[in-house]
Amino acid sequence: MLAVHGLRHAYRGGPTIAFPDLDVPQGARVLLRGPSGSGKSTWLAIVAALLTPTAGRVVAAGADLLAMSARERDAWRGAHLGFVPQRLHLSEALDVARNLALPYVAAGEAVDRARIDALMRRLGLAGLGARRPRELSVGQAQRVALARALLRRPQLLLADEPTASLDDDHAREVVALLAEGAAEQGATLVVATHDARVAAALADAVEVRLEAHA
Ligand code: ADP
Ligand code: MG
Repeated sequence: MLAVHGLRHAYRGGPTIAFPDLDVPQGARVLLRGPSGSGKSTWLAIVAALLTPTAGRVVAAGADLLAMSARERDAWRGAHLGFVPQRLHLSEALDVARNLALPYVAAGEAVDRARIDALMRRLGLAGLGARRPRELSVGQAQRVALARALLRRPQLLLADEPTASLDDDHAREVVALLAEGAAEQGATLVVATHDARVAAALADAVEVRLEAHA
């Protein structure tokens, strides 16, 4: 399940953002909507245990995030979280195959080549393992980032504006792949967006609406 209660974040020298409560069962799809600056990326960073909020309680993938030590949060993220950031953070120093090995290296585990190959095939990336990220189309790079997020079978999959730079066909495809990737392993999916195309493609999702604020 994913539960967010009384969540509020005050940026030092910046806005204070109050977030609506959320309670959804494991495997739910959530659409985090709101205009630019409304706090979508902030919400994702908190639920990814990357940012400690000013107030509130978050229970995600079986853990009370704010009750954990920094070390426990790192371990929780490695074991349970898939994150597709807005800027994809693929390493240009590494080819696609090595970019996809990184999550295993970071977790101190043996690289699961079979899993990487299966996901690459599944996401239409077969044959691209030797390319550098800059040699990919925007849609291909997005799918590499999605593969990276799914590799270790997270219980929670978060995506920040995944369709921002995609045309209609690729936007539809990425939302479908996110939804299928989450559904296959029973993961809870949260997609942050102000793109109406995403809302249309995830019509059955629970909506969290963030308001514009000064
Ligand atoms: P969104 O993802 O919906 O565009 P963000 O979560 O990025 O919104 O930002 C929400 C608000 O918090 C904005 O007003 C933004 O300027 C502000 N903000 C984001 N990060 C910081 C920061 N590190 N310091 C101060 N203000 C910030
Ligand atoms: Mg954002």
